[in-house]
Amino acid sequence: MRFVVTKVCGGGGKARAGVLHIGGGIETPALLLSTRKGLPSFVSCDLLASLPLPDSLLLHVCPTHFIEGPPMKTISNIGGLHRMLGLPDHILVAAAGDSIESLPSSEATNKFGASFDTPSGRRLVKPSDYMELVSCMKPNLWASLADEVPAWVTEKRNKTSVDRTLRWLDACIALDAAAGANSFGFIVGGSSIEQRRLCATEVAKRNVSGFWIGGFGLGDDIEERCSLLNAVTDCLPPEKPRLVSRLGLPEEVLEGVAAGIDLFDSTYIYQLTMGGFALIFPVDMVGREMQNGLFNNDGGDSTKINLRATTYRKDTSRLVDSCSCFTCQNHTRAYLNHLLNVHEMLAQILLEIHNTHHYLRFFRSIREAINVGEFDVFRQQFVKKRRAHITAAVL
Ligand SMILES: [Zn+2]
Repeated sequence: MRFVVTKVCGGGGKARAGVLHIGGGIETPALLLSTRKGLPSFVSCDLLASLPLPDSLLLHVCPTHFIEGPPMKTISNIGGLHRMLGLPDHILVAAAGDSIESLPSSEATNKFGASFDTPSGRRLVKPSDYMELVSCMKPNLWASLADEVPAWVTEKRNKTSVDRTLRWLDACIALDAAAGANSFGFIVGGSSIEQRRLCATEVAKRNVSGFWIGGFGLGDDIEERCSLLNAVTDCLPPEKPRLVSRLGLPEEVLEGVAAGIDLFDSTYIYQLTMGGFALIFPVDMVGREMQNGLFNNDGGDSTKINLRATTYRKDTSRLVDSCSCFTCQNHTRAYLNHLLNVHEMLAQILLEIHNTHHYLRFFRSIREAINVGEFDVFRQQFVKKRRAHITAAVL
């Protein structure tokens, strides 16, 4: 893997565009699509090909989803996860936890390994177990095992989490035959700027090819997040990619990009889809003022609409007029409303296709904005419109 920063925002800004060279080239800032047991929840292999390329090639896979699956040796004998899933060209990035099925359980984590709440109960995963999973699955990249803690833990527990995460990183690198060439060092530190800096500085000394910044989205204070993110990225070498997990709202992504984050891993699309929501906010807005009225509010919150609302029962329009996705090209809001009301899984399939498509276009717009030197304007306009909408809704 090779990473090249191609553009950094001027005026003291930290937002940057780059290219992740792995297989082909993936432009950043970019999104990792979340998966359940290998594939996005409602998008099968053939439909994956209909998503924008190469933007949709990055997939986050959870080794912990496979603990109770086929024996690891079987996956290894098949040739790894790429062959098992039938996705030879996708870039699989392995990281132990997710926000849906495999949540970190900080109370049950101990000095031997990290604990996760899974559908089959709580599982303790030691670095050696984890690296065995990784070596059998053969992902393109993997993040080290971490002791992620929520924001409200004591300073002492936070410090322990940093110590353990660093120790497990060393253990993981020692167990990896490729000596860390494809590893992302996990950075924790909770809501302590001091621990965040310490962890980032220590991880940066290791032989890793990038950084996985975790511990956000676990009860942390939104006001504090910006300074925590900046404290971390200030300690990292500019030439290696930085990924942040669990930040998925459009404003959160913009905040991360402004702090110098290159990759995002979140279950936002899944959460939207399960709630019956479709993203509708304007994405092609680089270089021009966002038009009033584009931030629609029919049952949503200005970035999305709730297709379950009765107002869509007779709505024969597309989700988004300018969207080229399969759903928008073939179906109406009324049909999606009907599918949701009769509990047809096709509703989630069609929604996930659109939401993924739309969100990847949002990332493309962010890259365009950085490349033409307009990221700050882009971000300010987006946040301003959202605030104006929220204020109007409250009044
Ligand atoms: Zn669409």
